[in-house]
Amino acid sequence: MHDPDPADIAVIGAGIIGVACALQLARQGRKVLVIDQQAPGMGASYGNAGHLATEQVFPIADLSILKRLPAMLMDPMGPLRLDWKYLPRALPWFIRLLLNLRPASYQRTVEGIRALNEASLGAWQRLLASIQRGHLLREDGSLLVFEHTNSRTAIDELQRRMQAQNVPVDFWSGDAIREVAPQLSAQIQGGLFFPGTGHFLDPYRLVCELVDAANANGVQFLQRQVLDARVEGDGVSVSTDQGTFAARQVLIACGAHSARLTAALTGKKVPLDTERGYHLMLPHEQQRLPFAVTSLERKFIMTPMAGGLRLAGTVEFAGLDRPPNMARAWQLHRLSQGLFREDLSAEDATPWMGFRPSLPDSLPVIDRECDGKVLLAFGHQHLGLTQAAVTAEMVGQLASGAPALSGLPALGPYRLGRF
Ligand SMILES: Cc1cc2nc3c(=O)[nH]c(=O)nc-3n(C[C@H](O)[C@H](O)[C@H](O)COP(=O)(O)OP(=O)(O)OC[C@H]3O[C@@H](n4cnc5c(N)ncnc54)[C@H](O)[C@@H]3O)c2cc1C
Repeated sequence: MHDPDPADIAVIGAGIIGVACALQLARQGRKVLVIDQQAPGMGASYGNAGHLATEQVFPIADLSILKRLPAMLMDPMGPLRLDWKYLPRALPWFIRLLLNLRPASYQRTVEGIRALNEASLGAWQRLLASIQRGHLLREDGSLLVFEHTNSRTAIDELQRRMQAQNVPVDFWSGDAIREVAPQLSAQIQGGLFFPGTGHFLDPYRLVCELVDAANANGVQFLQRQVLDARVEGDGVSVSTDQGTFAARQVLIACGAHSARLTAALTGKKVPLDTERGYHLMLPHEQQRLPFAVTSLERKFIMTPMAGGLRLAGTVEFAGLDRPPNMARAWQLHRLSQGLFREDLSAEDATPWMGFRPSLPDSLPVIDRECDGKVLLAFGHQHLGLTQAAVTAEMVGQLASGAPALSGLPALGPYRLGRF
């Protein structure tokens, strides 16, 4: 470590989580260095569905999925896919997922997600206002629609469960939906409207705006692959493919790639895996929807964005190394057929795949280890965009060594030590 002027904090990972944290830390007067192997925002944060999904307070799986699982896994183009060659590696993760469905663990997860989600909108409003970019977030709510009359029971049950968790939710009839979203077809029988949600107009631009603000606050960005990191003496040493950097603290915010560096720094193994997801961007589809619409039966979301309509979803268990199967992205266009009065145009559409960073209890790790030298913020699964701003506020307090977080969710459910 020969760096004459080491950073206070080296942030590894320039996705939405790392960049939001870097800006927060710089504003607290810290000298921040962000290291990413790619340009900022090119990981999962590039292509997500842009949904501020504060209504999603339930874990990624519940007991009802077990019944549907075999049929879902047999369908190679279904919403859930397992690459069978990946099964041996994924098995321990699945076992933990199942164990987390036990009532006490399930309840802990719901409370943990809910605490973050309830703080998310306010945190985003503060962050966007601070960079004068409030217009990037549309606070127009979002809708979950159903087409089959026999789905009504499931919708009513979901509404009841969400109300029990204080999630603002209203039932809308098919006609009420078509009044607000006239392009949707008569196939839609009704749905749940979530007034406390919203969507971002361009998730990638959002990262770029935060990078600009971080730069203006003195944050330095470096494009390097981090190979190793160690706690050494009074700080940490971060080895990259182009040299070693010293810092007083390090923040691991590498999304789905965070497990290896966490183990190197803390000695603890974290059961992080990835749920690969896809999107298909339809650039010629402007003004089709007033807000994000999810289909209950078809299991994907459609979000109106600055660059067109984004169809997104699907969960694929195939690890970090296998190439994407873009047929799954194109499948999203087929899935949209019948939902609109006129089918969507796929002209000039672009497919994309990204790695959701997922832990088997559906909660992120947000914590401080090694006497505060190591900070952790990863594993936000389907909700990293939603929870980025509140995560940054929590990391800001953790970095300053505050004994307990004030005005923010308590750390308990997110601690690394739960594994
Ligand atoms: C299809 C899809 C739809 C989604 N929709 C939504 C949604 O609507 N709402 C929502 O809230 N969330 C959504 N998500 C989830 C959300 O996108 C993620 O939770 C979030 O982007 C994670 O952010 P991150 O910063 O942790 O990870 P990333 O954005 O993946 O960033 C991690 C960064 O770490 C870097 N990195 C990794 N290893 C190294 C290394 N060794 N050295 C240097 N750099 C490294 C990577 O290059 C990357 O840039 C969706 C995800 C997908 C895939």
